[in-house]
Amino acid sequence: MTTLALLGGPPLRTRPFQTWPQFDQAEVDVLADVLNSRRWGGIHSGSQGESFETELAAYLQVPHAAVVSSGTAGLMIALRALGIRSGDEVVVPAMTYVATATAVSLLGGIPVFADVDLATHTITSSSVKAAISEKTKAVIAVHLGGHPADMDSLGTVADTYGIPIVEDCAQSLGATWNGHQTGSLGTIGVFSFASTKNITAGEGGAVVTHDDELAARIASLRDHGRPPGGTGDHPELGWNLRLSEFQSAILRVQLARLKDHLAAKAKGAAYLASELSGVPGLRPVPMPADLDPRVTAHGRLSFAFTFDSEAFDGAGIGGASVSVFRAALRAEGIPVSRRSLVACPDEPIYADATNCDYSSSRTASASQARAACARLVLLGQAAGSGLLLDEPTELADVVRAVEKIHENRHHLRREQRQLGRIHV
Ligand SMILES: *Cc1c(COP(=O)(O)O)cnc(C)c1O
Repeated sequence: MTTLALLGGPPLRTRPFQTWPQFDQAEVDVLADVLNSRRWGGIHSGSQGESFETELAAYLQVPHAAVVSSGTAGLMIALRALGIRSGDEVVVPAMTYVATATAVSLLGGIPVFADVDLATHTITSSSVKAAISEKTKAVIAVHLGGHPADMDSLGTVADTYGIPIVEDCAQSLGATWNGHQTGSLGTIGVFSFASTKNITAGEGGAVVTHDDELAARIASLRDHGRPPGGTGDHPELGWNLRLSEFQSAILRVQLARLKDHLAAKAKGAAYLASELSGVPGLRPVPMPADLDPRVTAHGRLSFAFTFDSEAFDGAGIGGASVSVFRAALRAEGIPVSRRSLVACPDEPIYADATNCDYSSSRTASASQARAACARLVLLGQAAGSGLLLDEPTELADVVRAVEKIHENRHHLRREQRQLGRIHV
């Protein structure tokens, strides 16, 4: 039996997987075009930004899209456009990237954490209902990892209480629910184009909506409070959260490549789901269509599986921890997420009441979010890797590495305490 790489043995894989982000000569060419045009920023007709907005809106089947500087900026604009003010409550998932909640806090609002479904990691309508108070002004649904939240039942709650839904689509570009793109299902949809997202210009974001009035407010809020097509006066308070022309030009190329990427990643994820389900102690998050046929396409930002410590118990005295398991996988040459996930209410900014003025929050429910975070291992862009684009012949090394670690679990257990003190 070969020694685990974590304990000094040879790594199972030394060749890299596909990298992320991906680009080719097309990105290089459009960057040069923008440079030569001498129009590098601002809002003007015939711009790269305007073209990208038109192309994104057509892809998502929405009438309005506005590019912004980041996903967080997009969430802040969306909430401000909906009239969120200091002291207002916004229901957010207890499990998400923290920016979903901090966007609320940065406007002086109060994020109210509501629990997620244990299988899909998306916010449930029953937890949202229980979290709503007379101060609730909006709900943010996050399509985490690319898995669409149940927009049917969330839509029913929104209608019942008269509360708008903002879709946080930072991780779900290309995912569909009942055949409709995420971002086109709620009142406002927000996308991020940061480095790990499905298309990227390093940074960037977009805000989309069906509503003409909201679209005008969104366009104004990102551009110093100047209404689009106005005189240049500043009738309302706005930010400068515009995107540069270099970024928009890259995003146009990236959007054209999205369809091929989604198809390749769907194939990679299907392979991993079927192969990893045979390994004791691992439970791949079920394939979306098996969980819910209304998920007609998954965004596939990541491939997630849960790790059962007991099944990796070599000595009968408690198994290897998930962080040691992740470190062992990385040592074998498999890029998995480095850090443990943390439920949002447990992030220091919200858990530590003395932190600062902005950390006011309320937790309605979070037990399933905490349970999921404690056991999840992520592959793919969430771990900074393009591995899901690889062919099954390459991905077979992921399965072999997991099997190797399981076979050597006795050694892992023995080394665990020492390793815990080193960097895991
Ligand atoms: C990435 C991300 C954001 C923030 O987007 P930025 O572009 O990094 O500001 C918000 N919500 C979720 C779920 C994300 O994954």
